[in-house]
Amino acid sequence: HLAVNDIHANYGALAVLHGIGFEVDRGEVVSLVGPSGSGKSTVLRALVGLTLVTGGSVEVDGTRIDYAAPRAVKAARDRMAIVFQQYNLFQNMNVLRNVTLAPTKVKGRKRAEVEAEAMELLKLVGMEHKAQAYPDELSGGQQQRVAIARALALKPEILLLDEVTSALDPELVNEVLDAIRRLAGEGMTMLLVSHEMSFVREVSSKVVFMDAGRVVEAGPPDAIFDAPSSERARDFFGKVL
Ligand code: ATP
Ligand code: MG
Repeated sequence: HLAVNDIHANYGALAVLHGIGFEVDRGEVVSLVGPSGSGKSTVLRALVGLTLVTGGSVEVDGTRIDYAAPRAVKAARDRMAIVFQQYNLFQNMNVLRNVTLAPTKVKGRKRAEVEAEAMELLKLVGMEHKAQAYPDELSGGQQQRVAIARALALKPEILLLDEVTSALDPELVNEVLDAIRRLAGEGMTMLLVSHEMSFVREVSSKVVFMDAGRVVEAGPPDAIFDAPSSERARDFFGKVL
């Protein structure tokens, strides 16, 4: 369970988030939607300590993450993993090694045990047949699915996905969305940012509509998409749906 309360975040002197709040229950998929520049990526980045949180609080399963503490980023990354639009796989390692690297190096776990888990994760994203391949031998969609498996290898309580299909050719988008659907079916807790509105509607238990660094409204997808209560959301969905 993730509870985000009234968080503020800045880029230098520029205040970007002005008090964001929402919750993600265990097993839920929550999506952040809204116009470009509204702060969706900043929310995800702030959660994992990549952007400075200047106010408010974040709790994961009841434990507060103190972003001012020296170990904050580690504490946050122990609980949340993030995947970006740009899948930065390690080019000099095969798929299996990409997935097993962090658990073996960072967590010091036994390689054989981690490899067995990694193969299960690769199966989940439909990539087990490419375990021995190198990133440059894979399509963008395949690389992105490996990046998702790699993020899951650290057993995050919550997986954060920021526009993971935006850099892909259209015909590769669905295979990545299918992998995310499968994760949702397995009960993975996810917070995602996506411009794929029909996918957001289908997979989300809750949709949070943001504008200009604030949450304008939030609720079940049908309510948010079909009957938004704010002018801002009506205007936005009028353009993107
Ligand atoms: P998009 O849909 O285009 O990805 P977004 O909702 O993810 O947009 P953010 O990337 O979170 O928006 O940006 C929120 C605000 O923060 C914008 O005004 C943006 O210009 C600003 N911003 C983002 N990254 C930086 C940065 N590294 N330095 C300074 N300002 C930034
Ligand atoms: Mg963004």
